[in-house]
Amino acid sequence: MERYLLICLLFLATLPVQSTTLPHLEFSLHKNIPANTRNAVKGPTLLVIGGIQGDEPGGFTAASLLVTHYKIKTGQVWIVPNLNFESIIKRSRGIYGDMNRKFSKLKATDPEFKTIQKIKQIITSPDVDIILNLHDGSGFYNEQYVDALHNPQRWGQSLIIDQASIATEKFGHLETLGTHIVSRVNASIQQPLHQYRLKNTHTALGDKEMEKTLTYFAINHAKPAFGVEASKSFLTHRRAYYHLLVLEAFMSRIGIKFERTFTLTETDIKKAMYDKLQLAFYNKKVLLDVANARKKLNYVPLKKNADIAYIAGNPLLAVVGKNNRFNVRYGNRNLTYIKPAYFEYDNSLENIKMSVDGTVKNISLGSVVDVQHDFNIHSIAGYRVNVIGFTRKGVYDESNHTIKLKHIRRRFSVDKQSKIFRVEIYQGKKYCGMILVRFNNIKQTT
Ligand SMILES: [Zn+2]
Repeated sequence: MERYLLICLLFLATLPVQSTTLPHLEFSLHKNIPANTRNAVKGPTLLVIGGIQGDEPGGFTAASLLVTHYKIKTGQVWIVPNLNFESIIKRSRGIYGDMNRKFSKLKATDPEFKTIQKIKQIITSPDVDIILNLHDGSGFYNEQYVDALHNPQRWGQSLIIDQASIATEKFGHLETLGTHIVSRVNASIQQPLHQYRLKNTHTALGDKEMEKTLTYFAINHAKPAFGVEASKSFLTHRRAYYHLLVLEAFMSRIGIKFERTFTLTETDIKKAMYDKLQLAFYNKKVLLDVANARKKLNYVPLKKNADIAYIAGNPLLAVVGKNNRFNVRYGNRNLTYIKPAYFEYDNSLENIKMSVDGTVKNISLGSVVDVQHDFNIHSIAGYRVNVIGFTRKGVYDESNHTIKLKHIRRRFSVDKQSKIFRVEIYQGKKYCGMILVRFNNIKQTT
């Protein structure tokens, strides 16, 4: 008993002052539908799934670009870009085993039981007409044995069906449709060894492994489904490029009209992958652009005695960790880590007045403000302005100073290029919110 007490006391003594929990990493469903909903009804509904295995970034990156950079004009595209989100964030094929083997039988005690139930419900939703499950596969599938990398045992650069057709009203002729897609995609692929091939696994003829997969579950519920594989021999943005070629060929063929906000080249895909990576904590009280963030962001003012709550600008972004160190992960990659400083929050201030290159503007806290030459935060009675990286001897409140890029110490920027800086507002010891100032014209301001 005495010993027990001692252990308890020791435990109490080492309890951290701040104890925070993070939201559970669950997949998200994004319905990309036309602004004019009547057009949504005119076309079919395509369900795209990415990240069933956590270490296949080509597939989940392409799926997330469908969420962030495509506008659907006719029909609907439903996207689950991060099915196995926890494994994606931990860069593992499957931290609880292979999720793509859990669709025939699964014990209710399986840690992924609920996830599987949820995705099965989406797959079997009456609205869904056709399903694409995106993968990155090893090597290059080929009907013939060419060499160790190109042979029937490989999966990369293939479109997979479980059987030639299923009995359903729309899109049931899987082989015919697949053959069309493959020839359409290959028209844009010069290199013969990189061309797509249709692979029929003939699952119903006794393929015990394939019987447990998502696509086999789908076709047995009268939903046409294809596996799409890009080769793991390529870098992520090239895999995403091939996935998007296949996705667009499907959309065109089945009558889904779309626009995309980048050109379909590997270079532009790489840019698009990193252009919407904002992270907003506590209703935009803290806003960070983590696309090109420094390795470590210090003294980020997080809320005292509260669980971490944030909204991510991209479905593959997540914050992991605890108490005094949080990693910001983007898919399989680590973008930055946040060292928090905990504050009580004050909600009395929503806007600030500031001069941006000489023009007075009213800015809501939680905004990004583009600056060419200089900015000046107008003083607010009772509040203190802290421009992170700017110091003037004897100055406590940094409002009413015209600040140029050269006045701020570069290493305090959010980004590696030293263009984005934090401006934080405090009331006494309480934190009120921040804006990000983004310098767009470094040459002229120095
Ligand atoms: Zn896979």
